[in-house]
Amino acid sequence: MPFNFDNSYARLPKRFYSNQQPTPVSAPSVVKINHRLAVQIGVDADSLSAAILAGNMIPVGAEPIATAYAGHQFGGWNPQLGDGRAILLGEVVGPDGVRRDIQLKGSGQTMFSRNGDGRATLGAVLREYLVSEAMAALGLPTTRALAVVTTGEQIMRDGYEPGAILTRVAQSHIRVGTFQFYYARKDHEGLQVLADHVIARHYSEAAEADNPVRAMLDAIVVRQAELVARWMLVGFIHGVMNTDNSAISGETIDYGPCAFMDVFHPETVFSSIDRQGRYAWNNQPEMAHWNMAQLAQALGPVLGEDADIEAEGALALFAPAFSETFYRGFAAKIGVDTDTAELRELVTELMGILAQGSVDFTLFFRHLSAGVRTGVFADVKAMFTNVEQITAWLAKWDTFGADAALMQKVNPIFIPRNHRIEEVITAANNGDLEPFERLHTVLGHPYDEQPENAEYENAPKPEEIVQATFCGT
Ligand code: AMP
Ligand code: MG
Repeated sequence: MPFNFDNSYARLPKRFYSNQQPTPVSAPSVVKINHRLAVQIGVDADSLSAAILAGNMIPVGAEPIATAYAGHQFGGWNPQLGDGRAILLGEVVGPDGVRRDIQLKGSGQTMFSRNGDGRATLGAVLREYLVSEAMAALGLPTTRALAVVTTGEQIMRDGYEPGAILTRVAQSHIRVGTFQFYYARKDHEGLQVLADHVIARHYSEAAEADNPVRAMLDAIVVRQAELVARWMLVGFIHGVMNTDNSAISGETIDYGPCAFMDVFHPETVFSSIDRQGRYAWNNQPEMAHWNMAQLAQALGPVLGEDADIEAEGALALFAPAFSETFYRGFAAKIGVDTDTAELRELVTELMGILAQGSVDFTLFFRHLSAGVRTGVFADVKAMFTNVEQITAWLAKWDTFGADAALMQKVNPIFIPRNHRIEEVITAANNGDLEPFERLHTVLGHPYDEQPENAEYENAPKPEEIVQATFCGT
């Protein structure tokens, strides 16, 4: 028995989901099982089989459901989305006491599939596996990847591609769009039931407050602000921050067209479907705030007598929480452990110089911390086309007394660079999983020197640069 299921979401009212069996696939085959994660969340990895991970066999205790949600996609309202290609098998409670969803993504059509085939490509699944596990190793809140199986079936996207299923683990799959679903239907009882469920599951401290829903909203807003700040500090661009892809738990969810930027530019966008740059690196706080405003609106009917004032109060927490995490985090990246106006100015100035100089974001901090250790900044300056500007900045920064150990702790050496992921996907589509395994191993220790994997530190060569990423949906 791989899972000791206890399914709290399936105990919610029937209108919250549809009972839905995965659609069996022709030839399931295990690509990867995350044994370390299995131990952490209380799953017996040895009894996981390809048949279970593909949805061909339903494990004991599972109650497969597709959950209902709505959402704003690129600002446009969609009253019904829902799990169109994912099925929640059930929930497990880990040895750490944390409850987690076990979800199959790519497991076939559901009543929410609309025109989709309910499937996922191997490429998209491997991207999610690598990037979500890299995020976890970097220390950011994220959904996790427990396993990958191929289905033995080809699915149609731009051409035919191998199909695969990801077993995704999340503290829950409840999204801003889940609340919006009930709000749009004027189902105030549904809103209250969902809020109670979320409080019990993710924000138990809010239960003690005079207004528990307000306290929950406050906590969600703060977690979301901190999350986006932390994305930005590692150069992560989510790419599709729709309200249905914004997890109430504060975990990063839905690794579609996401990417880490190489060269620093605040307006960087990768997603092929984000033509207006709505979800560019530097727009992410504003968009997360907008998502929180949608959540506050959706909670209106259960937020108390003066819902507008409660909502305003909660949303006002976003900007300070974001700024503090962002500037403190950025200060740590340059080796300084404070958050003052002076430091914020120094950081802002640096961002401008980095952008003008077309400098690799990750390598810059790597060279900078090496400079602190050796006292030589030639490698840093050599990165810039605007050498004079960075030289002046370095002189100013020098007066703050940077701490090299702090810098090494917070600046990753290895990030899931886009060109490496593309390399993995191309090889995997040709049956070669070696590059996937290797990249996965490297990304498991992003802050440690790995001399044998030094080439994975490098920025892409001009011909390797990936211009756009695709959802693969
Ligand atoms: P996403 O852009 O991946 O967040 O997905 C948005 C919506 O489309 C969600 O309701 C998904 O379940 C649904 N969806 C995405 N891909 C597929 C697919 N291949 N088949 C069915 N539904 C899908
Ligand atoms: Mg989604």
